[in-house]
Amino acid sequence: MGVRLAPNVPPGGERPETRLGVLGWPVGHSRSPAMHNAALAAVGLAGWRYQLLPVPPELFAETVRALPAAGFRGVNVTIPHKQAALALADRASERARGIGAANTLIFEAGEIIADNTDAPAIIAALPFAPAGRTALVLGAGGSARAAVWALRDAGAAEVRVWNRTPERAQRICAELGGTAVTAAAPADLLVNCTSSGLDASELSFKSLPLGADDVSGYSCVVDLPYNRGMDTPLVTAALARTIPVLDGLEILVGQGALSFERFTARAAPVDVMRAAARAR
Ligand code: NDP
Repeated sequence: MGVRLAPNVPPGGERPETRLGVLGWPVGHSRSPAMHNAALAAVGLAGWRYQLLPVPPELFAETVRALPAAGFRGVNVTIPHKQAALALADRASERARGIGAANTLIFEAGEIIADNTDAPAIIAALPFAPAGRTALVLGAGGSARAAVWALRDAGAAEVRVWNRTPERAQRICAELGGTAVTAAAPADLLVNCTSSGLDASELSFKSLPLGADDVSGYSCVVDLPYNRGMDTPLVTAALARTIPVLDGLEILVGQGALSFERFTARAAPVDVMRAAARAR
């Protein structure tokens, strides 16, 4: 069963809400509502609300098409809908088209406009510009596509891609550039875009082509999975070796802030969003 959209008619005859949300399946773990609702309150958008929209793949297209009439200004899109979101859009940013996936949809003048804010969020969060640097990306799913595209777009000298299923790494590299590898080797950046399921309970170094000590071979570690309520093994290993590390919540805040600005045309209160995303 998917989402049921409540009528946008608040009791008492107040003005209808301006709605935002996140579509995913599953999506119950998402910190986006807490983060965006805190941001909306902080910038004084009292009549706006951001909500969870659990939508299975077979209902994705019809649900999205119904959202503007139900008062939605825009939505974020997460697993497994990012490619479908791009396919549904009337217009898309160059980066969303390049990546082949969208995480942000804006409803404007009868059109669905797609963007991908994961890619710029990864680049903006890095402690150094990736131009001329080397990177190893782990994974070949949607977020790996965003990372590879972003690093290449930012002028990285070499982007290597490792994936559990090597053919998928080869496919990404054929489409986006980069070099598929079957083993990990030191580089300036390590970007982990793998997941082992949304509860992430089995995600550990067993899933990755490197061990905790190998993390010393990188100048910065980015670890996208974030839904564990605790540091991931990769983040723990990097922190223990005083290697600059960006965890998944930092990337979540970065992509959320960029989406918030697209939704509201207001500067995102990033500190407020970070505090809400990190609140236990
Ligand atoms: P996809 O489902 O598109 O891709 C999953 C990737 O993980 C594939 O490369 C898959 O490899 C790999 N994988 C899955 N299970 C294992 C395993 N047991 N061992 C090794 N590799 C495995 O997911 P996304 O790319 O969209 O997301 C990946 C992770 O990043 C998720 O945890 C997601 O929550 C997180 N994420 C976080 C964001 C943030 O803002 N912090 C934004 C986007 C994603 P294979 O091809 O072999 O199946």
